[in-house]
Amino acid sequence: MRAASRPHARRCAGALLGVLAALPLAGAADDRVVFPDRVQQGAMVIGKVPPGSQVTHAGRTLRVTGYGSVVLGVGRDEAGPVQVSVTRPDGSREPVAIQVLARDWPVQRVDGVPPATVDPPPAVAERIRREQAQVSAARVRDDARADFAQPFIRPVEGRISGRFGRARVYNGKPGSPHSGMDIAAPTGTPIRAPAPGIVTFAAPDLYLTGGTLLLDHGHGISSNFLHMSRIDVAVGDRVEQGQVLGAVGATGRATGPHLHWGMSWFDVRIDPQLVLERAP
Ligand SMILES: [Zn+2]
Repeated sequence: MRAASRPHARRCAGALLGVLAALPLAGAADDRVVFPDRVQQGAMVIGKVPPGSQVTHAGRTLRVTGYGSVVLGVGRDEAGPVQVSVTRPDGSREPVAIQVLARDWPVQRVDGVPPATVDPPPAVAERIRREQAQVSAARVRDDARADFAQPFIRPVEGRISGRFGRARVYNGKPGSPHSGMDIAAPTGTPIRAPAPGIVTFAAPDLYLTGGTLLLDHGHGISSNFLHMSRIDVAVGDRVEQGQVLGAVGATGRATGPHLHWGMSWFDVRIDPQLVLERAP
């Protein structure tokens, strides 16, 4: 972490700044702006600003908690530097530039997928478009809860069978990059909430994603759970970390039972693995 200080503070001894930067965020002086120096593609970035600041990034004004926490997502193809503009309550401005570390995105071939899901007929393509628009609409929400700030847990134990960001080729035809983490587990395995949240979307049988659930963690951060065989919660439910949301399945475009767990900052896909690695 780096403490970006006001000009007058830059005259302070470097050693003192070093000590300040090492303090936990909760105990930090209120006028500091703290973001990581560098992040990976797909990262969820949590920063600290003086409470009451105005913070903008990517044309969006970020919600700031009472403690001064803000969050943003870095896309798979983001080259950086990520630019954040902070205007303190006293009107002074501080630009922040976060370096983005590029990652390798190996190609993953997925064969044996039902052909109609790779090359859908027009009526099905229209259904897919309509369903994806419904899911996207649920991701627009910007809720004041800061559930995203707590350590996440894995929603299902099991072998990771697909990683975030891999370029995917379905039955030989290039498709969209993989937008989440796949965890192989038998149908019926309970899926637990990786962090608290509010259920904002639940549908038992979407064409591509099958049983589909969205959980909102606040400030635009959400989880999605796909291919579920069963959904045990409803839109509007408040769920706690570890609460069972439903069960693993193979519904929609899936070659076998697994949980696809995706995460987003609004419409920017982020890597659940990086979110898990934030945990102490
Ligand atoms: Zn997947």
